[in-house]
Formats: sequence, C-alpha cells, structure tokens
Amino acid sequence: MRAKLAQVTAEVENYNQRIAEIENERLKMEDELANALAASNFEINREEFIATIFHKAEIACDIGREFGSVRTNTHWRFHSVEGGKIFITNLNTKRRPGFKQGVITAAIEKLEIGQGKVKIGSLISVKWQEDALIALHPYLCVTGKWITFDPDFEPDEYIHCVRCGESDFKVIYGHQHGPYDEPDSLGHYCQQCGHLTDLRLDFPDIDEYYQDMAEEHMENQMDALREESKL
Ligand SMILES: [Zn+2]
Repeated sequence: MRAKLAQVTAEVENYNQRIAEIENERLKMEDELANALAASNFEINREEFIATIFHKAEIACDIGREFGSVRTNTHWRFHSVEGGKIFITNLNTKRRPGFKQGVITAAIEKLEIGQGKVKIGSLISVKWQEDALIALHPYLCVTGKWITFDPDFEPDEYIHCVRCGESDFKVIYGHQHGPYDEPDSLGHYCQQCGHLTDLRLDFPDIDEYYQDMAEEHMENQMDALREESKL
C-alpha cells in the first residue's frame, strides 16, 4: 500500500512538473506573439475586420453564396450565422461545420505579423475556413502563393473573381431540357485561380450590369454611325 502511494505521489509530482513546463511554453509563446505584433508596423482595425466578415457572412448566408475550387474539387455554401458562429455547408459531404471569431482574430494577427501578406495555407490551417474568409472580405485577395490584405484592392472589372480579382470565367453547364434550350448554368469558375463560384450570387445585379453595358455599347455604335453619316 505504501509503495503504491509513493508511486502515485511521484506521478502527481511528474504531472505538476509537466503542467508547469507547458504553462512556461504558453507564456513564452504569448510573449513571442506580443513581440512580433509590436515589431510589425502593419496594423489592421480588428473590430472593423471582424464586423465586415460577420456582415458579409449574413448576406452570403441569406442568398446562399458559394465558393470552392475546381482544382481541389471543393464546393461550399454559406448557410447561417448563429451564436457568433458562421456555418458553411460542404456540398460534397453535406456536413455543416462552423467557425468562430477566435479563428478570425488569429488570422488578423498573422496578417499583421506578415505585414499584410501570408502564404496560402498559413493564414488559417483549416483550408475551407481560409477560403471562406477570402471569399468574404473584400480586401483579402490571392496573388500567386500569397494571401494579401490590401485596402486598395481594386479589380479591373466590376464582375471579378473575389479570390484573385481576375475576370476570366468559364460557365459550368448542367442539364439541357430540350434540344433548343440553353443548358442550365450551375455556376462559374475562374480560369486564373480555379475559384468555384456562382457569379449571380456574388453580384446579384449582374443581369442589370450586363444590360447597361449592352445598351451603352449600342449607343456608342449609334453615335459612331451618326458621326459617319455626317461626313
Ligand atoms: Zn480567381
């Protein structure tokens, strides 16, 4: 009995020591993080960043915005914001995980330490959460292997890829109802970066936008003809 007690006491001692070690490690990491943040002169307004993500997420959930990649065969749809969590449906598996504000705060810290630039996969280690953030925040974009936080991010075209800013899309076709019918469009993907999306949800005014463009084009042509006939 006494031997057993001595053994258990030694075990408790071991655990206590291990806990003290881990606590020390934690404090060291906290220090390192604080130092790295202090050394970086790149500051992001955290409250604004988080508010933007949640605001955009509410809208994305309302209209069921999608994201994913034709290169990694992933496909997600924003589902709901509930209890401070953003839930997203994995359309391949129908699972519906969520993530909280803490994930976003950690990502902001990474961006600050990286002076607004972080390698893909290092912003958030969970890929779909990283992709969701990029799809939601208008200042986050991908160039090559890097994710950048750029308040001046201004794509050339209004209808653009929310991931890389390019406007070179392919339509993904689905079922064709009759021989003379246009097949259903299931969505779009960006030829530049493989981002899978549905532009009608990213830009709900897309039809109006293209109609205005067509009208403007028509008017310009009419003007040109009028000019010509004057000569
Ligand atoms: Zn793209």
